[in-house]
Amino acid sequence: MSFKALVIDRDESTKAQSIAIKTLSEADLMEGDVDIRVEHSTINYKDGLAITGKMPVVRRFPMIAGVDLSGTVVASTHTGIEAGENVILNGWGLGETHLGAFAQMARVKGEWLIPRPPSLTSAEAMAIGTAGYTAMLSVMALERHGITPASGPIVVTGAAGGVGSMAIALLAGLGYTVEAVTGRTNESGYLKGLGASAIIERAELSGAPKLLAKERWVGAIDAVGGTPLANLLTMIGYGGAVAACGNAGGMDLPTSVAPFILRGVSLLGIESVKASKEVRIDAWNRLARDLDRDKLNSMTKTIGFDDIVQAADDIVDGKVRGRLVVEIT
Ligand code: NDP
Repeated sequence: MSFKALVIDRDESTKAQSIAIKTLSEADLMEGDVDIRVEHSTINYKDGLAITGKMPVVRRFPMIAGVDLSGTVVASTHTGIEAGENVILNGWGLGETHLGAFAQMARVKGEWLIPRPPSLTSAEAMAIGTAGYTAMLSVMALERHGITPASGPIVVTGAAGGVGSMAIALLAGLGYTVEAVTGRTNESGYLKGLGASAIIERAELSGAPKLLAKERWVGAIDAVGGTPLANLLTMIGYGGAVAACGNAGGMDLPTSVAPFILRGVSLLGIESVKASKEVRIDAWNRLARDLDRDKLNSMTKTIGFDDIVQAADDIVDGKVRGRLVVEIT
């Protein structure tokens, strides 16, 4: 059977990357014990980096891009996974080392798959995607730290992006007071609609960090990294925590030990790609239970296969608001 796929290739002499929609056959797929008809995918920041080639996300060429998929199993030799099951896959090297999601067919390892929670449609699962799953991992990390809605306000950076929008909707739905840091204050109405109680301009976190600053929040979910994260750490109250999950503003962290040793602030690392199956199932069940579907719809736009490359450029340029779902079939 032939199928359509978005393929990234590289000229090994010039290292120039090219991208094209190609027709492939099952023989082109990599090893795996489950074949999936892909129904929906999504555009994450990492997909933008992979398709534009701005960061070395792709580790094997040619590569089918796409780190997230939702679809139906068409064939399986994996114990416990049957044809006809609805499954989702986030990460595990999909679109990086293993042929990915922007294709009508995928062949993957069954151990990477989790069942799609029955209350989520395939499109909703990809509206959530790695961004929403990472936002939920971040919320759960703050909860494990003992932070509750009664502890005080939480701040979310990269607020109008995918992880940020999801984090605001989740926290607000759980009863937290949430403040949103954004470079797009023209999106204030959108962010308030998701549940943000205050909008803070990105510039407020862009100056050189002091050792400590006025305590403003008890917790944070940070999708940005760099100087904004360093500033956040100085503004977290005694015993609070920051869940650091992103680097949209940089990989560096120009901080000091002061927030850690003088205020007992914790920096909680969030990693989604290799999280265990148990952690994933837990996070997805929480998403199915806790996420307000109207808010999910309000942050989601649906695009077609032919729009993926443009969307990849847009997300890297910080022009995508909320989440994008890609209709594959
Ligand atoms: P988006 O592009 O949707 O959101 C990122 C947001 O960050 C932008 O919308 C913008 O928000 C803000 N931003 C962009 N550039 C800058 C900048 N230079 N300085 C400050 N803020 C900036 O991406 P995602 O939500 O998909 O991903 C967010 C981050 O999380 C990425 O770095 C991604 O790699 C990371 N990530 C990590 C995962 C993990 O496992 N740890 C999993 C998933 C994502 P605004 O316009 O509101 O200012």
